[in-house]
Amino acid sequence: MKGKGNICSFCGVSEEQVELMVTGANARICSNCIERAHSMLVDFKNTSRKKTGGLRFNLVKPTEIAKYLDEYVIGQEKAKKILSVAVYNHYKRLMQKKTDDGVQIEKSNIILVGETGTGKTLLAKTLAKILQVPFAIADATVITEAGYVGEDVETILTRLLANADYDVEQAERGIVYIDEIDKIARKGDNPSITRDVGGEGVQQALLKLLEGTIAHVPPFGGRKHPEQKNLVAINTENILFIAGGAFEGITKKIASRLNTTPIGFRTEKEETVDLNNLLQYVSPQDLRSFGLIPELIGRFPMITHLDPLDKTALRRILIEPKNAIIKQYQKLFAMENIKLEFTDDALDYIVEKALEFQVGARGLRSICEAIMLDLQYELPPVSKIVIDKEYAASQLEKAPQLKKMMLKSA
Ligand code: ADP
Repeated sequence: MKGKGNICSFCGVSEEQVELMVTGANARICSNCIERAHSMLVDFKNTSRKKTGGLRFNLVKPTEIAKYLDEYVIGQEKAKKILSVAVYNHYKRLMQKKTDDGVQIEKSNIILVGETGTGKTLLAKTLAKILQVPFAIADATVITEAGYVGEDVETILTRLLANADYDVEQAERGIVYIDEIDKIARKGDNPSITRDVGGEGVQQALLKLLEGTIAHVPPFGGRKHPEQKNLVAINTENILFIAGGAFEGITKKIASRLNTTPIGFRTEKEETVDLNNLLQYVSPQDLRSFGLIPELIGRFPMITHLDPLDKTALRRILIEPKNAIIKQYQKLFAMENIKLEFTDDALDYIVEKALEFQVGARGLRSICEAIMLDLQYELPPVSKIVIDKEYAASQLEKAPQLKKMMLKSA
């Protein structure tokens, strides 16, 4: 309210002299004092950050990180363990002081190899929620070699910078997940034959970031222009990189390396090879045969796999995670005061269809959407709805997009 006599309790200026006067229970503050107080707060935060070595986090133990991942991601124990340890060590590395013993903890970038839809991005996204350093997900497919249409490799860091509120120092301590790293593999053995737009050149450029360089990042992404001036310099030395990819067809290379013949399927050590999950044996050598250059592989000391999702895992994904698909529908209907239940055979049916269409976990949602569409539209005036197998099947029959999927997988 404007009125004479309204004066700032901090500096005594009257309301007419300032842009804004905020009135509280027993006091008023003018816009000038708000601005001053804000800059004091920023200064205070910066100094206290410097006192703690610029760090803003508590150490969360690896087992606690893994436990948190368990709430959202089903299975994938090996990947969870490796990610939790890597993140924990990353924090410790950031805290290390230059000591006389000469021991410097080095970073350990990670490659996740797993079929599409098995939880690579989900793991990265879930991790982002608990991380106490800036985190960004970047897509390797948008990067091209300098000179081609696409984005420069430095744009991988653009989002990290934005997620760090443009605080370069914080961005330099962040973690980046690079999705679809397999898409920049060298296509043929001789890269000079074709224009290797998404191949070795990009890998070379990426290598620099991984090794630690001062990257000049366009703060808003896109291609750098030669005359662009507002590039931000980011030192990538302490940034932890996690890369993920489906590496389609790599199992053939793993199998041939393991020398699996129709008789026996045995490794040199006479261990039986699990043919249903060859990815668990993935090694740097296989990534090399797939088309990643050795220098790049060398910058990812940790390689781990994600397990294919079987029937049990898919069923658990439907109901167990904190934001499981079924729980989401139940919440939607609870908001209408309708109790929603799925029978066991309906859940089994949804899983069977996802397996049949070969769409993995990603397809569970589209199948459920098709089943639930009519009910979400009609919102019948009842207090309870039970979805059984018959209802699920009849609804799925009506869904044209899923029919297409069925044809494709047939
Ligand atoms: P990708 O491995 O291709 O990155 P995503 O992580 O994007 O796969 O998985 C797609 C979707 O499938 C996720 O958003 C999630 O709903 C579901 N999903 C996949 N794997 C899992 C898993 N292990 N646990 C829970 N949900 C999963």
